[in-house]
Amino acid sequence: SVYRDMERDTAWYDSRMARQQAMERYVAAHIDEAVEKGWIHVFYQPVIRTVTDSICSMEALARWIDPQHGMLRPAEFIPVLEKTKQIIKLDKYMVQSICQEYESRINQGKTVLPVSFNLSRYDLLVEDMVDFVDEQAKKYRVPKDMLYVEITESVLMDDRDVIYETIEKFHQLGYAVWMDDFGSQYSSLNLLKDYDFDEIKLDMDFFSTFSDKSRKIVKSVVSMAKRLHTHTLAEGIETEEEYRFLKSIGCEKVQGYVLARPDSYDRILEAMQKRKLPVEMRKDKGLYEK
Ligand code: C2E
Ligand code: MG
Ligand code: MG
Ligand code: MG
Repeated sequence: SVYRDMERDTAWYDSRMARQQAMERYVAAHIDEAVEKGWIHVFYQPVIRTVTDSICSMEALARWIDPQHGMLRPAEFIPVLEKTKQIIKLDKYMVQSICQEYESRINQGKTVLPVSFNLSRYDLLVEDMVDFVDEQAKKYRVPKDMLYVEITESVLMDDRDVIYETIEKFHQLGYAVWMDDFGSQYSSLNLLKDYDFDEIKLDMDFFSTFSDKSRKIVKSVVSMAKRLHTHTLAEGIETEEEYRFLKSIGCEKVQGYVLARPDSYDRILEAMQKRKLPVEMRKDKGLYEK
């Protein structure tokens, strides 16, 4: 009967909720151990410049490879850590690992690219996050223009003054700041008016349907960004057709499965090499491929 089905659904829902809550408790209880024991890994996803079809940067994305539960995706641990404010621990670890990996690649004569990384709301409310990033960059001799800070649109709604100051501080020190997930909230346009971003990442929701209408919206956003002298990057791009369209309307950069899924630094570069996609070299930085 319908009633029995409902009952079964409720039971299924309850057990799913219970599992999720157990997972949240596990994550909150084990983040310190995960960091200390190296269960947190930095995965990278390449970004391509559409004019030249060359790889111009990588986004660092956290993966938790748990000895008991296998690979956890950010959706399974980032929201919990944000709730408990332990996200600061994770993100500091990410920043340190990115800088450390950068230096070690340089020492091994390996290719390096600028890396963008994600910061959450609490990171920005903690005063020393900007200094922390700058310290790590200095410690591992990462040039400032090889690190980009990504801030998701939704954090810009609250605590505007503090967040505004934090962005300014990153700028004063010489770090570029990108707006992540642009268009996923209702007041995106207002945010562009109030904050200075070096680049905006168009949310993948724009591309969930590749309709005539969504193409028109994307085209308008790209031309508006150009007028504001802000660069545009479309994320979550999965097909060649979407890529060609974005290239044709002058969207400067693209990121998505069409190029690669997040993976280790070396595996990404190998995959790009196989596809004959050149990597932009920064000769001014003394960085050469060996
Ligand atoms: P995000 O910063 O917007 O990152 C893009 C997400 O889209 C990544 O998911 C990426 O794997 C996924 N993606 C990329 N290309 C495609 C595509 O073509 N199709 C689809 N369907 N998805 C694609 P991921 O790695 O699961 O991360 C999810 C979110 O978790 C990130 O969204 C970011 O907000 C957050 N996050 C990830 N790593 C960190 C971190 O180290 N610190 C913080 N604070 N947040 C992080
Ligand atoms: Mg991001
Ligand atoms: Mg995003
Ligand atoms: Mg996001």
